[in-house]
Amino acid sequence: LAVIEAVEPNIAGAIRSELADQRASLKLIASENYASPAVLLTMGNWLSDKYAEGTIGHRFYAACQNIDTVEQLAADHAKALFNAPHAYVQPHSGIDANLVAFWAILAQRIESPALAEAGAKHVNDLSEDDWQSLRKALGDQRALGMSLDAGGHLTHGFRPNISGKMFHQSSYGTDPETGLLDYDAVRATAREFKPLILIAGYSAYPRRVNFAKMREIADEVGATLMVDMAHFAGLVAGKVFTGDFDPVPHAHVTTTTNHKSLRGPRGGMVLCQPEYADAVDRGCPMVLGGPLGQVMAAKAVALAEARQPAFHTYAQNVADNATALADGLSRRGVNLVTGGTDNHLCLLDVTSFGLTGRQAESALLDSGIVTNRNAIPRDPNGAWYTSGVRIGTPALTSRGFDAAEFDRVAELIVDVLSATTPTAAPSGGTSKAKYVLAEGVAAKTHAAADEL
Ligand code: PLP
Repeated sequence: LAVIEAVEPNIAGAIRSELADQRASLKLIASENYASPAVLLTMGNWLSDKYAEGTIGHRFYAACQNIDTVEQLAADHAKALFNAPHAYVQPHSGIDANLVAFWAILAQRIESPALAEAGAKHVNDLSEDDWQSLRKALGDQRALGMSLDAGGHLTHGFRPNISGKMFHQSSYGTDPETGLLDYDAVRATAREFKPLILIAGYSAYPRRVNFAKMREIADEVGATLMVDMAHFAGLVAGKVFTGDFDPVPHAHVTTTTNHKSLRGPRGGMVLCQPEYADAVDRGCPMVLGGPLGQVMAAKAVALAEARQPAFHTYAQNVADNATALADGLSRRGVNLVTGGTDNHLCLLDVTSFGLTGRQAESALLDSGIVTNRNAIPRDPNGAWYTSGVRIGTPALTSRGFDAAEFDRVAELIVDVLSATTPTAAPSGGTSKAKYVLAEGVAAKTHAAADEL
């Protein structure tokens, strides 16, 4: 840090402060983790200075031999870890991985047949008329994903994201009674909507998904099954999700981030079946610029870590700890969406405390417990204030927390939420954002967090 301090002390200060904040709080954000020192150090070096557009052995720049080594190692580790026929490790983030996947599927399903029909090898060889009709066809496709309030992700075809502008979109939700994914309802929607792409995966659904069933549905309607396993990739890597619950053998294309339960650097990857490999490898220049050599190297290091037996233990602990956390919360009267969890996260419905998600998130933060507010199915408070709080176990499990410690975390959460009351709004009723936390609770919770 002294080297950075000499150039821009405020940045050195922000880095120091981030470390202090992370040490002084209980990190329960379900999508965060602690990458190892090896992963962090691999990101700060000379690989960062190199341009390497293209793919392994086929670059648009000279002197890419070291980036070739790095990218090949990361892809090999990814293939071995997930038992995937092909891996593309260039995406800079999860959203980029999804964009690469979408365009690869469009290239394979729509563009290639159009080129074949026109007797052309490359889009540049198409006549203007053929090119215009191909562009129209590319823009006229359908995608079906999990609805946002059921736990789906913005990048799965929703309007604020580019995916919603690319595709005609429809979504499937969860059963209003149980909160669980209803595969018969997914099948009925898919039959009616006839998507080109059926998207599975989530960021706030607290249960496993049966990907074998999703593939059956995709096959029935002629859709490509794309699974976004960003949240639970660590549980797949650690062999907690196997068989029907491992997406990789069932999906045509699987995307992921590296930095959530997988505990790597920020970034994304695409895994796919052989028939999609060529299109996926065209991610750069299709939607990506030059790959980040230092991040691909850090992906290789993190994936090598995830191939060690210790990672299996870690992944099992993440799941066991989530069960302990859910049990601890339920036992103390908290309503959990779906009644519990069988992955790494729980979604708390905080309306029984008389709170919005925003108030609950803020009161917990005051007390040193870092979470994020999240919509619950059919949320009456909308996506900004919400009625839920999402919590997950990957980060604290990396710190070595066990089931008993997660039960204590559940107790602290309930203490804070029970001691929080909404503030009256000037217009009458209560504010959706403001709250009062009973005196002494924050300090007591901070002290307990320090002990943990
Ligand atoms: N996909 C899912 C399921 C996610 O939860 C997220 C991030 O929250 C993303 C994609 C996007 O990842 P990134 O923030 O790296 O773009």
